[in-house]
Amino acid sequence: MNYISTRGGGEAVDFQTAVMTGLARDGGLFLPSAIPDVRADLSAWAGLEYGALALEVMRRFADLPANDLRAMIGDSYATFRHPDVTPVVAVNSVHILELFHGPTLAFKDVALQFLGRVFAYYLAQSGRRLNILAATSGDTGSAAIAGVRGRFGLRIFVLYPHGRISPTQERQMTTVPDDNVFCLAVRGSFDDCQSIVKTIFRDLPFRDRYELGAVNSINWARLLAQIVYYFYGALRVMARTGARAVRIAVPTGNFGDIFAGYLAARMGLPVSRLILATNENDILARFFNTGVYQRGTVQATLSPSMDIQVASNFERYLYYRVDRDPREVCRLMEAFAQSGQLRLDRVRSAGVEELFAAGTCTTADALATIREFYGQYGYLLDPHSAVGVHVGRQFLSPDEPMLSLATAHPAKFADAIRQATGQDIAHHPVLDALANLPQRCTVLPADADAVRAFLREHIP
Ligand SMILES: *Cc1c(COP(=O)(O)O)cnc(C)c1O
Repeated sequence: MNYISTRGGGEAVDFQTAVMTGLARDGGLFLPSAIPDVRADLSAWAGLEYGALALEVMRRFADLPANDLRAMIGDSYATFRHPDVTPVVAVNSVHILELFHGPTLAFKDVALQFLGRVFAYYLAQSGRRLNILAATSGDTGSAAIAGVRGRFGLRIFVLYPHGRISPTQERQMTTVPDDNVFCLAVRGSFDDCQSIVKTIFRDLPFRDRYELGAVNSINWARLLAQIVYYFYGALRVMARTGARAVRIAVPTGNFGDIFAGYLAARMGLPVSRLILATNENDILARFFNTGVYQRGTVQATLSPSMDIQVASNFERYLYYRVDRDPREVCRLMEAFAQSGQLRLDRVRSAGVEELFAAGTCTTADALATIREFYGQYGYLLDPHSAVGVHVGRQFLSPDEPMLSLATAHPAKFADAIRQATGQDIAHHPVLDALANLPQRCTVLPADADAVRAFLREHIP
């Protein structure tokens, strides 16, 4: 499979190049040059366990020897604490797809365990090395660290806002003892961290000299790993209920997770509705309900991993929405960069937009959903998963079951659970065990030169 840029520039590249470079040279995002149709395979896939299904899905996109791909998949998901990897649990009117059984208890492990191994695989072949520079407001940092810790040829430098992430999230990063892991607490905001990373990436001579790379959610391998659990969850629910199609609710921030679901639907998975669920940062829900994509200001909510205004993967969806016309993508993205607004006035690609439904969940709604699910069904939702369930329940249908994605273990957001239930019940032994471990981090000023100096000192 070859990969093309959403902005139409340059030649098609292979899987290795798409994964190792992340962003296309023309500033666009990589997409497969064709979407395979797997409808004829679905009945055979229905009984597969997670790893075998992952191999079937991924080998259609990744030009890797089957044995190597199988081994990487096997290793990636052996780190999960549940034999089903991503089990499906029926709770009242919804089926919950639990994506949080990985090393850091958030769904980002599904993609980053795999990505870390893909990086290591290609680096070992080429004899090169890669120094990952990332900014995090919480979940991404620890999942990325867990994906690359101890791996030969890789180092990771994670910037996070000093004193502004939860103590649990900080400990998940700073207690990792491997010497290829560097946690940098920046005296500033998450936006400062992100702008430092961008500044350093724009410094091309520095970037080349220090072999810097990225792990953010625009990397194609992350999306690829996420397509798998849509097949896994939907096929399980259809087998259990006898339904011929499912609806899927997805708590959304960067449009990465739900875009993987969109690709699964285009490959032929019978998804009749993809339900996009946002918290108060509702730029995407507004877009799907009005056709206008307009930047707002970020509000802090109980689901911080979705406190995002500009969704980096949205451009990929836009590409299909304008009938794969890269010039139109460029025009729209330029308009958005200049005015903070983008409007789709022509209704094109009939069928694309009918798939989506969208809604918003307020903080009060999320707290009420957590309280109800715990009180009435004994099931504890984390605040991100509660957003998906709340919005998903607005689109229930009598003959199509609702699958709702649970993206984090509630113990990661124990304060929100306490607020919802009045009880201190959200615990996980993995997180409790971090309390007494030594921490390692370096505090730096919010200044790109200070970070550059740190990198020079720690990259030989
Ligand atoms: C990152 C994250 C999300 C949002 O995922 P996107 O791919 O950005 O839409 C939702 N929930 C949790 C717990 C996350 O860590």
